Amino acid sequence: AQDQLVRTEKLSALGKLSASVAHEINNPLAGILTFAKLVSRTLAEGPPDDARRAVLQKNLALVEREAQRCSAIVRNLLDFARERPIQRKRVDVNAAIDEALSLIANQVAIQEIALVRELAPLPPVLADFGQLRQAFVNVAMNACEAMGKGGRLAITSRTRDGAVEIAIADTGPGIPPERLGHIFDPFFTTKEKGTGLGLSVVYGIVQRHGGTVTVDSAVGAGTTFVLRLPADQDADTTGPGQAA
Ligand code: ADP
Ligand code: MG
Repeated sequence: AQDQLVRTEKLSALGKLSASVAHEINNPLAGILTFAKLVSRTLAEGPPDDARRAVLQKNLALVEREAQRCSAIVRNLLDFARERPIQRKRVDVNAAIDEALSLIANQVAIQEIALVRELAPLPPVLADFGQLRQAFVNVAMNACEAMGKGGRLAITSRTRDGAVEIAIADTGPGIPPERLGHIFDPFFTTKEKGTGLGLSVVYGIVQRHGGTVTVDSAVGAGTTFVLRLPADQDADTTGPGQAA
């Protein structure tokens, strides 16, 4: 097991990021160009008989797949780069966890993953509810993807030292030590269809909330991500129910 504290410089490598973005978008775009040309060529060959229709369908499906990939990359990038100040309200983190769990419920069911949910009563956190939910979804989806069929996904929340801690643990293959230092890098992925932006987004969200994210992983045993968010300082004086 190895504990990795994520560093701030990773977000400021703008030049490197731009180059990666150009590269990442360029690959599916090249695919779109190629398959679109094949569609044109097939149409130029003559009227769409059954054989030509099959070729058209195949190439259009490939255009669609590559366009969807571009779209996923751009969507993630927008999350990642979102500069607008977060909409801070007094938030119940457990509610954000529950919404995240319902968003991944389908995936959990399909993969027959055993879900363990242990949520302790928490002080409110000044946070953007939607962004927190996004962070939990991204980490939990990675956990599911790592485990394949079966396995156990445990989500725990607790209070410690004036902070709210959310632990998301899986029984997947774990992350080799040499890979651990890269998982928060934009576009780092080991998946054929991954964008490598999920954890970059998580990192950005947690950082904007003044929190931290750490990961503890053991090859062959599993991985645990811990997100720590400072509790609202005024919480005990103003009490719950008086939204900011
Ligand atoms: P993506 O999911 O698109 O690959 P992420 O930024 O979400 O991008 O994750 C980056 C990489 O970190 C993954 O490709 C995977 O190698 C590794 N990773 C993240 N979470 C886990 C996990 N729970 N178990 C094993 N590996 C993980
Ligand atoms: Mg991911």
